[in-house]
Amino acid sequence: MGGIVLPGATIGIVGGGQLGRMIALSARQLGYGVVVLAPSDDAPAAGVADHVICASFEDLAAAETLARSCDVVTYEFENVPEATAARIEQLAPLRPGATLLGITQDRVREHALLHRLGIPTAPGVEVSHRDALAACVASVGTPCRLKSALGGYDGGGQWRIASPDDVPRVQAALAALGHEGRFLLEAEVAFEREASILVARGQDGAVACFPVFENQHVDGILVCTRVPARVSAQAAARMETIARTLAEEVDLVGTLTVECFVNGDEVRVNELAPRVHNSGHLTVEACGVSQFEQHVRAICGLPLGDPTLRHPAAAMVNLLGVDDVRPVRLAGSADALRTPNVHLHVYGKTSSRARRKMGHVTATAETADVAERHAREAATCLRFVRPGAGVGTGGRA
Ligand code: AMP
Repeated sequence: MGGIVLPGATIGIVGGGQLGRMIALSARQLGYGVVVLAPSDDAPAAGVADHVICASFEDLAAAETLARSCDVVTYEFENVPEATAARIEQLAPLRPGATLLGITQDRVREHALLHRLGIPTAPGVEVSHRDALAACVASVGTPCRLKSALGGYDGGGQWRIASPDDVPRVQAALAALGHEGRFLLEAEVAFEREASILVARGQDGAVACFPVFENQHVDGILVCTRVPARVSAQAAARMETIARTLAEEVDLVGTLTVECFVNGDEVRVNELAPRVHNSGHLTVEACGVSQFEQHVRAICGLPLGDPTLRHPAAAMVNLLGVDDVRPVRLAGSADALRTPNVHLHVYGKTSSRARRKMGHVTATAETADVAERHAREAATCLRFVRPGAGVGTGGRA
């Protein structure tokens, strides 16, 4: 199904998290109505939607209601159940489409696509059942990483195997979880940097790449992104070629994020996400168009915006929850925002818990080092606290 979706029409978003919220904000700026499908009506995107369908992602009747009330449907996470995506696609354009969604929600299928296209990854094999782990570890070598084929996120669903002696421990952990399989077992590769590239492709086949982002992870969670990335021109060019190849091959309409390991000029793809991405948040302040507006433009058949940098450098630091707080207020914004060119984004979550993404800070500057320093200093001032918790608890207003 094709066709341009003009402002005034309605966009459906499957998922109500911060990515959905920021897509919805861009959609509303362009004059679209927004309907969100989310399991909870206090989800971050709910507050900025015209209407929320509060239902589980498995609820096919809810998917049908969403599709019937929207002119185009998109999603903010790749683990949309296959049946839900298929039902939506029968009734409304789903962008990006269900085929790409199916590939990117399964690490084994994702690896197979990359290999078919000759795109390098870490060497890996499929492990069909946990009982086959020892033999697979013997063939891949150690250290290696066992990754759940389905459902992993922010480093979850992943086990590091330092030596063959670790296999029984990991098998016991999987048995305790009732996790039989399938998995991708990947050799651990050496890299200097982790980097990502976000590509958008419009209905007319136009392709535009954002600049390469450099990402720092701690325990599998993105902590800081900076641009320009400290990667060679050759590595950056390889990443752009990979992103463009993928966009064409999968007939992308929307945005696709390609996460890579970079070692010198060598690039290996780690993961694909058929959507906007945490590493692209700094595009809001740093680029000619934000990733969110670019996504909306692409899925609606509007011309793509100019993704090039508008500042010499930028950095984004995630604001992660530290402990369980409900309800929650953000303290410290007066201090955090004192530095010029620091911008605060808060996702409106009603509770905080350890490692939960609650907001982010972006700084623009003359160099990425200065931008990172300013963003980190601002983030240090900020804390999610109980309402009324003020000076003395680390929660300055
Ligand atoms: P993922 O969920 O696959 O993005 O993995 C989370 C983090 O684990 C990555 O950002 C890397 O820092 C690390 N990691 C994952 N796979 C590998 C690998 N094959 N070799 C080295 N490090 C890895």
